[in-house]
Amino acid sequence: MSDKTEANAEKASAEGQQPPANGEKMVFQAEVNQLLQLMIHSMYSNQEIFLRELISNGSDACDKLRFESIENSALLEEDPELRIVVGFNEEAGTVTVSDNGIGMDRDEVIENIGTIAKSGTKQFLESLTGDKKIDARLIGQFGVGFYSAFVVADSVVLTTRKAGEPAAAGVRWQSDGSGGYTLATVDKPGRGTEITLHLKEESKEFLNAYRLRSVIKKYSDHITFPIMMLGEVPPAPEPVEGEDAPQEVPQEAKLEQVNAASALWTRPKSSITDEEYQDFYKQVCNDYENALTWAHNKVEGNQEYTSLLYIPKKAPFDLYDGNQQRHGIKLFVQRVFIMDEAEKLMPRYLRFVRGLVDSNSLPLNVSREILQNNKIIDAIRSASVKRVLGMLEKLADKQPEDYAQFWKEFGACLKEAPGEDFANKEQVARLYRFDTTHHDKAGELTSLDDYIVRMKAGQDKIYYITADSYQAARNSPHLEIFRDKGIEVLLLHDRVDEWMMSYLHEYDGKSFVSIAKGDLDLSAIEGSGKESDEEKAEKEKKAADVAPTIERIKSVLSDSTSDVRASTRLTSSPACVVMGEHDMALHMQQLLKQAGHELPSTKPVLEINPTHPILDLMDKEQDDDRFEDWAHLLLDQALLADGGQLEDSAGFVKRMNQMFLALRGS
Ligand code: ADP
Repeated sequence: MSDKTEANAEKASAEGQQPPANGEKMVFQAEVNQLLQLMIHSMYSNQEIFLRELISNGSDACDKLRFESIENSALLEEDPELRIVVGFNEEAGTVTVSDNGIGMDRDEVIENIGTIAKSGTKQFLESLTGDKKIDARLIGQFGVGFYSAFVVADSVVLTTRKAGEPAAAGVRWQSDGSGGYTLATVDKPGRGTEITLHLKEESKEFLNAYRLRSVIKKYSDHITFPIMMLGEVPPAPEPVEGEDAPQEVPQEAKLEQVNAASALWTRPKSSITDEEYQDFYKQVCNDYENALTWAHNKVEGNQEYTSLLYIPKKAPFDLYDGNQQRHGIKLFVQRVFIMDEAEKLMPRYLRFVRGLVDSNSLPLNVSREILQNNKIIDAIRSASVKRVLGMLEKLADKQPEDYAQFWKEFGACLKEAPGEDFANKEQVARLYRFDTTHHDKAGELTSLDDYIVRMKAGQDKIYYITADSYQAARNSPHLEIFRDKGIEVLLLHDRVDEWMMSYLHEYDGKSFVSIAKGDLDLSAIEGSGKESDEEKAEKEKKAADVAPTIERIKSVLSDSTSDVRASTRLTSSPACVVMGEHDMALHMQQLLKQAGHELPSTKPVLEINPTHPILDLMDKEQDDDRFEDWAHLLLDQALLADGGQLEDSAGFVKRMNQMFLALRGS
């Protein structure tokens, strides 16, 4: 990814094209150009978003400064009241957003504003859909908000000076959004960042105090810093080389606050409307949509804290990206913002939860390191986990449709819980929803509790099968005996399911059993499928009859199977493969192998259906070569049905065709 070195190296030699005083012309990283174009198109119908993005950046900058000033109060200089100011100048056609937050030095400007440092940019560009609403959400998630300025402006001037640096260390960044930008060193007496947008002709509607105010109220009412508005800002005089930059004109008297800036979570629950909760969510958690549900709690006693936790409606596009460690909880201490993405406050499997925790017990100068092993944090975390799980349980009970939507978006995250959160395994499992043989269609899910209610007399296990798709699970030969006996089987076909089941051994005192692994004993279960004594005797005779054939098959397949035996699972298919109780399912092995993992090779057991007519044919087969072909065909088809891959698929096809031809001969 490009950085300052590259940006410098790419410095355009077009010095002749009227660069500003001591200006240096730089080129955007290629992705920036691409992003700009996309952004301008996708946000065209929702232009007002630019203000929200710039205010949000200003608010972040104030948060950062407030945090750093806890250790180093000199950073606040003579100007301790952090705020954001929005102004406009009708004559000049400009809107200005300024903050007295942390500011940026030259390197930071290049790094933050000239390049897109996020590794996911490409993925972002690919994930744009063309649907404006969805794309606008993605833009928010990606944190490429600054560039939204170019949706309304054909030229943007950013002047910034880092807190703690001298006035002469100001930096001016200027761009028309088409390919590059210029950088200049300027004087900036006030710390922080000022962004001036030279509006496009068609965006001049924003040169209006009423319009700006209403946009601020709409999107930024809950920003915790005051957002002030001036009447008119005089046009910023062009900086002249060798002279100080213009002083900010002191117009404090005319400043008035536009937003509520209340720390909503500090108010009593009963005084907050749903709409306020939703507005707060959208503004503070950067979502364009309402939250699905939330929980607001105040805890008193020796550890005082407040938590306001939200479940979003939609998963961010990178939720399941293994490298993505983003967590959604902000930490405040005594109403002071401390940090974003406080990963210690939620386990990984709840990384989709958004919101905040505000503690009165932690020290203000808390750092990520301190959080590592902190009893207060541990206590807040475990209570917050309980709260989230409780909130989800309530949702499942009271609003099953909303819960179904939640499960679709975030279910796979919750499935990571058994491996991560031993203590809450059972409670999380109560939230699980699975496809099942009880229903006819994919997507008609069941909870484990409902499964248990339907269990047959004498059944003390929860049966499941894992596969790589619903169809594969549904049509697996392993289900035959269960279908016959009317025993319900859960159909697990998510990638994480196999992994999840290796940690989830029981629920409500009933152990989970994979119907594709180990020995199967259904004899204790009463039901319609129970055999009469004659049937049983008949079966045993059949098994004895085919025993020599099975022995023959076993010797043919001794290299590729660990055993060949008569099956109790099959009623219509000729054969199936069975893995050892602790082995990984074949489709999973396949997946890991494709991903380049080395796996110990586990040979499956081949189970043969003694009642299948193929066995009679094989029994009569005198030709050893032909018999071998039969044996291989049995194994290969069983592997295929189980989602495995054949080592010699060409051999399989050849044998199959030979069999077809033999049919013609017979
Ligand atoms: P995001 O804010 O989501 O990271 P942006 O494109 O809006 O993405 O901004 C990129 C970066 O530029 C920010 O992360 C921040 O470091 C810096 N930045 C933007 N605006 C300001 C500002 N007003 N003050 C200080 N830094 C800023």
